[in-house]
Amino acid sequence: MTQLFVNAAEVVTCAGPARARRGAEQGDAAVRPAVGVAVGEDGRVLAVAPDAELRADHPAAAVIDCAQGVLTPGFVDSHTHAIFGRARYEEQEMRAAGVGYLEIAKRGGGIHSSVRDLRTRSEADLASLAAARLRRIAAHGTTTLEVKSGYGLSLESELATLRVIRRLAAEVPLRLVATFLGAHEVPLEYREAPRDRGQYIALVTEEMIPAVAKEGLARFCDVFCEPGVYTVDETRRILTAARGAGMGLKLHADELENGAAAELAAELGATSADHLAAISDLGIAALAASGTVATLLPGTMLFLGRPKQAPARALVNAGVAVALASDFNPGTSPTVNFPLVLTLGVSQLRLSVAEAFVAATVNGAAALGLAGEVGQIAPGFQADLALFDVRDHREIPYWYGDQRCRRTWVGGRPAHGA
Ligand SMILES: [Zn+2]
Repeated sequence: MTQLFVNAAEVVTCAGPARARRGAEQGDAAVRPAVGVAVGEDGRVLAVAPDAELRADHPAAAVIDCAQGVLTPGFVDSHTHAIFGRARYEEQEMRAAGVGYLEIAKRGGGIHSSVRDLRTRSEADLASLAAARLRRIAAHGTTTLEVKSGYGLSLESELATLRVIRRLAAEVPLRLVATFLGAHEVPLEYREAPRDRGQYIALVTEEMIPAVAKEGLARFCDVFCEPGVYTVDETRRILTAARGAGMGLKLHADELENGAAAELAAELGATSADHLAAISDLGIAALAASGTVATLLPGTMLFLGRPKQAPARALVNAGVAVALASDFNPGTSPTVNFPLVLTLGVSQLRLSVAEAFVAATVNGAAALGLAGEVGQIAPGFQADLALFDVRDHREIPYWYGDQRCRRTWVGGRPAHGA
């Protein structure tokens, strides 16, 4: 039946064109005081209007009292590595003590430790670990979540990870979007003769990508394009194969050192280029001239204790569409709290609150090819909603680290806090 969400102090609608927002457009979250939302039986928004008007138009509707809270589009978190086994808390202390990335890897930590661990686990084990974590993510207001593979780095373990994501999609109160990240690292067994990295890249392009495509397990393919990980040429080769198999493209680009990866993302027409803390002026110009969304992950730099965040202001001012994501992963960003990412978007990246909301909703959706479906509270869009116990939307990034999300709905159906 039709549902009316009434008695909200504000509704952050983000209503507008069903595409990524750039420049001045990114600065308008279309916040409306004292309106309600009507949701149809099909789970889509019918109208946003004053409560009295909605009640008059839909006298038989079920009524949900928002209790003077703030209703927002559910957050669209477009970059996570949520399928993993054990947490890697010991590395945090090592980093604090000044132990570097390479030394942590030498002591058995880093991505390879997650790979070793994941390969020993069953799909059922991985699914139950991830399901508990995904419920915590949902409890903070996220309703759409991209999830990458990339801790398997073998044909069997990458496929297993993607099957876990597919299985979770039916179990957790979130829309999930799967990304194949077989090129997250070069696995250790391909670093010594007789096997080399060229053979691993051939495995990714000739066996993994066709197998993933055949089972329809991933909407996107991603590559960690960074000096010391995958080169621009290797990345181009892998992503060209993925495009040929019908997948959309994403890149981990210019995260720690500049390698002209943003330029490659623009050249390939990637859906998003992610991280970008070390993007150059040329990279900014290339993204501005492209349709690629710049997805920024300020939680990662915070957790790593790195002083340099992505140049968000320069990106927005140059006309690049900026999204925010959590980068939820066991090594460098173990946060389930998306509102905290909004906080960092404002206080570290110097976005306005409206820019941060658009980055977390409409532009996150665009970074997943879903800008026509989710990310705004407007007629025809999925009723993916989050209700916060605050009176003003600016309090959501303000009470940093708090848990103010009370309920969420996905397609109009209660997802969290029902
Ligand atoms: Zn990542």
